[in-house]
Amino acid sequence: TTEDQLRPFNRSRVYMADLESTLHYSLRMELAAHPVIKGEALSALQRYISVLAKYFPGRPVVNNLLKSVDTWLKGEKDTELSYSSLRDALDNTAEVPNAALPEGVRWVGCQGSKPHFRRYPCGMWTLFHVLTVQAEEAADKDPQEVLQVMRSYIHSFFGCQACATHFENMAQESMSHVGTLSSAVLWLWSHHNHVNNRLAGALSEDPHFPKIQWPSPELCPSCHGVKNGEHTWNQEELLTFLRSHFSSEHHLSDYLE
Ligand code: FAD
Repeated sequence: TTEDQLRPFNRSRVYMADLESTLHYSLRMELAAHPVIKGEALSALQRYISVLAKYFPGRPVVNNLLKSVDTWLKGEKDTELSYSSLRDALDNTAEVPNAALPEGVRWVGCQGSKPHFRRYPCGMWTLFHVLTVQAEEAADKDPQEVLQVMRSYIHSFFGCQACATHFENMAQESMSHVGTLSSAVLWLWSHHNHVNNRLAGALSEDPHFPKIQWPSPELCPSCHGVKNGEHTWNQEELLTFLRSHFSSEHHLSDYLE
C-alpha cells in the first residue's frame, strides 16, 4: 500500500469528516456493544452527550441532532437506558426537523495506509483536542469538564481496554491538578505526546504516520526551543498554535456527504 492509495488530504489540517466519523463510530458502533447502560456508564454517557451538544463545532444539522439527543437524555429519569432507545434518538426517529448524524465513516486526516491503522482512535484524540479548545474559547466555568468527560467515556466505553487503563493511570496522576481552560488544552497535548512516545515503533504504528513528539518543527517552528542544549517547548507559542490548529475556523469540510 502506498501513499497514492490514500485520499488526497492536507496533513496539517483538521477535517470535519473525521470528527463526524468519530461521532458515528462512537455513538453507533462502540456504544452498541452495551445493550443496557446504567450507573457510572450512564452518567458518563450523559456528560459526554452534554459536552458534545455544547461544544461540538459541527454543521447545524449535526448540532441540532446532538442537542435533541441531549434534551431527550436529560428528560429520561430511568436508572437504565437501553441502547436501542438511544439509537432511535440518534437516528432521529421522532423526526425533529433539520437534525441528523450522517451514517458511516469517511476517514480523511485519520485515514491509515491499512484498514487496521489509525481511524477511530485518531478521531477520538482529534475530537477531544477540538473540544478542549472549544471550551477555552467559550470560557467554560469548569476547567476540567471536557477532560473528565473524556476520562469517563474512555473508562466506560473505549473498545481498547489497554488504552483505557493507560489513560486512566495518567488521569489519576495529574488531571485533578488542571486549574484553567488553557492548562486543560496543554494537559491533553502533553499526555497525548506521552502516549506517542510510548507507542513509537510499536506494531500499531502506521509506517506512513510515524509517532512523533507533535507538532513537528515543520508544523510549528516557534513551538520548539533549546535551553542548555536540551529541547524545550515554548508553551505560549504552543498554546497559540493549538488554539488555531484545532479551532473550528480552520476545519476543512472536504469529503462531507
Ligand atoms: P494519533 O496519536 O491517534 O493522533 C491523531 C492526530 O492528532 C495526529 O495525526 C496528529 O495530527 C495529532 N496529534 C498527534 N499528537 C498530538 C498531540 N500531542 N497533541 C495534539 N494533537 C496531536 N494505542 C495503543 O496501542 N496503546 C495505548 O495504550 C493507547 N492508548 C490510547 C488512549 C487514548 C485515550 C486514545 C484515544 C488512543 C489510544 N491508543 C493507544 C491509540 C493511539 O494513541 C493512536 O490513536 C493510534 O495508534 C493511531 O495513531 P495515529 O497515527 O493516527 O495518531
